[in-house]
Amino acid sequence: MARIDVNHVRHSYLPNPKTDADFALREVHHTFEDGGAYALLGPSGCGKTTLLNIISGLLHPSHGQLLFNGRDVTNLSTQERNIAQVFQFPVIYDTMTVYDNLAFPLRNRGVPEADVDRKVRETLEMIDLASWAKKKARGLTADQKQKISLGRGLVRSDVNAILFDEPLTVIDPHMKWVLRSQLKQLHRRFGYTMVYVTHDQTEALTFADQVVVMYDGGIVQIGTPAELFERPRHTFVGYFIGSPGMNVMPVAIDGKTATLGSQRIELPGAPKADSGAIELGIRPEYVRLGRDGMAVSISKVEDVGRHKVVRAKLEGRDIAAVIGEDETVPAEPKVRFDPAGINIYADSWRVEMGA
Ligand code: ADP
Ligand code: MG
Repeated sequence: MARIDVNHVRHSYLPNPKTDADFALREVHHTFEDGGAYALLGPSGCGKTTLLNIISGLLHPSHGQLLFNGRDVTNLSTQERNIAQVFQFPVIYDTMTVYDNLAFPLRNRGVPEADVDRKVRETLEMIDLASWAKKKARGLTADQKQKISLGRGLVRSDVNAILFDEPLTVIDPHMKWVLRSQLKQLHRRFGYTMVYVTHDQTEALTFADQVVVMYDGGIVQIGTPAELFERPRHTFVGYFIGSPGMNVMPVAIDGKTATLGSQRIELPGAPKADSGAIELGIRPEYVRLGRDGMAVSISKVEDVGRHKVVRAKLEGRDIAAVIGEDETVPAEPKVRFDPAGINIYADSWRVEMGA
């Protein structure tokens, strides 16, 4: 397994890129530690696949450098980098049996047949395809084929890293859950360096120790699920993670007080922001609905199971609050912001709070 340094990587699919907008990856500089379980999370088109393919060697970056354990691999092929990659759609040999599909990458590297047999059987067991070993891949369903693809990625234990690009998209929801927890176990057991691309926050948050959030060709935050939730570095992270996402509203700041329309909100400290468009971010979980505070008008109450989401207007702006499933909305509803959940942003980036 390897530590992977992505050094100042930029990539454009255009022959003569000029402006920043011509780059699918603007500037990525990050170290994936040896044995880490990472998720690359972000909306469609933000550059996740591009970055993954640059790590695997399928794509050569326009600028920058890749190091595996300190060694420059920028000009090496995927094979030479010794990387396993699982794609969104099955990449398998239709005419081979399920067993041979998994054995192929091992035989290809000259693994002794006894070890091939043991590894293949173990992997088939894990992806729940043991009873299909002798079947030709051609006759299988799309999600069984995708499991073979996954198996081909997992069967080798000598790789520097295993990369997954939305590998569970075509798998049914229950099996998705099973496979995801197996990937996690596998990671714990063998300590593989794993990078898992997804646009699904649940998938990212359950798989990864470190979530790398991408937006518009760059990394906007790297953190544990709790850090991303409590302290989004960028308003995008606040919107994208959590359900519903963070409330963001323009405010004026004076010392430890924020002004929103005719309301004054006490802050936990004095934000160190003297320029830029200032916004206050607060997650719905920290908006307290009750009889004190700022008057709101309720637009909608959605019962989503374990809690309710209340949609309301505060100073003419939409705001969401989360309340318990047994709580009710008072007759003259008001909201307070729990200071522990307040973040202040200048031009979309979080600023520190002073004393
Ligand atoms: P993601 O995997 O996050 O959805 P991609 O890395 O596939 O994003 O794409 C990033 C950007 O690069 C998008 O704007 C996409 O349209 C563009 N792009 C991706 N692949 C190609 C390609 N082969 N040729 C030209 N543009 C591409
Ligand atoms: Mg993609």
